[in-house]
Parts: sequence; C-alpha cells; structure tokens
Amino acid sequence: MDISVAIPVYNEEVNLEPLFERLCKTMDSMGRKWEVIFVNDGSKDLSWKILKSFREKRPDVVKLIDFNGNYGQHTALIAAFERCRGDIVVTLDADLQNPPEEIVKLIEKIDAGYDAVGGYRKEREDSISRKLASKIVNFARENMTNISMKDQGCMLRAYKSNIVRAIVNCGERSTFIPALAYTFASNPVDVEVEHCARQAGKSKYNLYKLIRLNFDLITGFTLIPLQMFTLFGFLTAMGSLLLFILLMARRFLLGSEADGVFTLFSILFFLISVAIIGIGIMGEYVGRIYQVVQARPRYVLKETEGFDEE
Ligand code: UDP
Ligand code: MG
Repeated sequence: MDISVAIPVYNEEVNLEPLFERLCKTMDSMGRKWEVIFVNDGSKDLSWKILKSFREKRPDVVKLIDFNGNYGQHTALIAAFERCRGDIVVTLDADLQNPPEEIVKLIEKIDAGYDAVGGYRKEREDSISRKLASKIVNFARENMTNISMKDQGCMLRAYKSNIVRAIVNCGERSTFIPALAYTFASNPVDVEVEHCARQAGKSKYNLYKLIRLNFDLITGFTLIPLQMFTLFGFLTAMGSLLLFILLMARRFLLGSEADGVFTLFSILFFLISVAIIGIGIMGEYVGRIYQVVQARPRYVLKETEGFDEE
C-alpha cells in the first residue's frame, strides 16, 4: 500500500458525497495504490449510512471504523493510524475546508524526502472569532513549547509510516497529533494549502472545546505553565517579605495603623485568584495522569469494515 488517507467524521452528512468524489478523483489520478479510512466519531446524522454506501461503491479502497460514541477528532485519527497500512499517511478533515486536491502537493514533498508535511492556510476562511481564537492558541504554543509548526490547526498533513507507528505507540489519552508528529519527525516541512469556508454544517469546535484541545497540546508538550507558577510564587514571596519589613518598621516608628484595609483586600483577592488558576493548571496535568493510570481503552468500537481481508 502506498498511501492511506485518514478522515475523522462527526455529523458531516452533507459534505461526505462531494468529499468522496473529489478524493477518489485525486487519488486515482496519482496512479498509486491507496486506501481511505473513514472514522465515524459517533455521528448522530446519516454519516455512517453514507459511509457504508461508499464502501459498496469502492470496496477496493474504502475502510470504515465506527465508534460507539464521540471521542474527538484526534482519537478518531489514532484509530485510523492503528489500522492503516500505507507508507505515507495523510490526514484530512471531512468538511472540505481543506481541498482533497491538495494531497498531491503533500505527497510530492514526502517523495522529495521530507517525513512530515504540514499544510498551512494562507487565506483562512473562518469567522473572525474562530481566527482570533486560533491566533491566541498558536501564540501560546509557539512560546511555551519548542514545536514550531506554522499552523497547528490545519489538519491537512502527511506523514511517513514510521512517524505514524511512533504516534500509535504513545500511551497518552489526550493527544494532539500534529504536535506529536512534529516531535518524532526528523525532516519536517510546511507547505501552503488552499482553505475554503465550511461548505455546509458548522464547526464542531466551540470555544470550550478549543480550549480543552489546547490544554491537551500545552500539557502534553511542556511543563512551563507549572514552572511559571513556581516562579510567580517566589516573586510574591519576596515582595511580601519586603512589605512585611516595611510595615514592621512603620509600626514601630509611627505606631499602629488601621487604614489600607481595601488595599489589603485587593492584593489578597488578586493572589487568591492566581492561586486558584494555579490549582486549575495543576489539575489539568493531574487529570491527564489519572486518565492514563486508569488505562481504559482510548475508544470503543461498534464495528469496522474492510480490515478483515488482510
Ligand atoms: N471531528 C470529529 N470529532 C469531533 C469534532 C470534529 O471527528 O468531536 C471531525 C469533523 O467531522 C471534521 C474535523 O474533525 O472532519 C474537523 O472539525 P471542524 O471542521 O469542525 O473543525 P475546525 O475546522 O473548525 O477546526
Ligand atoms: Mg473545519
């Protein structure tokens, strides 16, 4: 097998038909042996039915995985990675925002010797708030981890199979695949790809899901948030020591005082909220440790199709 394409699907019934048609055209035109693995991530619409019809149409290339619930885009990709057999593995969203035709560009780069090819979107067609959210998280990742991808949100990417094997062998529960791939790659590159507005349906990521996903990225790849709190703790400790000395001196020189109560409150409230954020961030790490320790399966399958004949 030359190329495996992995596509997570969550309530994409309206996009699937055109996606499949364009994908088949692109892949067939390359004249290489290929397969596509669709992972149905607990869709509640007709997506699974449509996927099954693809399998009837092209049993030679279509393979299907059906989850019993919604586990998220990255877990869906892991399930596809575990079963794909291509020397090159391409990930693609099902919503047609990244045109399947661009796969050709990625494959060219892999053929040229790069082992991880990331797409980045020059003209990004998303809402302003969605773009702003991505700007913030890209900035945070850029400064807190040593991963320097151009566009972490772009899922149109291609990897050599050894990288995919390495990703599959990671036992972690909350994964961020492009970042993991970047850590395992020895020769990564970014190429510019087209980006269209979502043709139909709406983004599956609201602000909350996006924040959760980015905590996965940050906690998975850096301890800097924790270290920042240690640092901040030292700084405030030094500050309060100074204040203590100052107040003591004043107390003995000028006598007791009763004003400044509200200043005290504001300082206190500020420090308490910083402490609460700190506990929260610690919780993000601890929670992920807990999930790994529980060692539950990453996902539960309802059924798979097309994997038996091998
Ligand atoms: N997706 C998924 N499970 C989820 C959320 C999304 O499988 O819980 C899939 C979705 O069907 C799509 C891809 O992941 O193929 C990207 O989702 P979306 O286009 O909503 O994200 P955005 O483009 O806003 O980043
Ligand atoms: Mg999208």
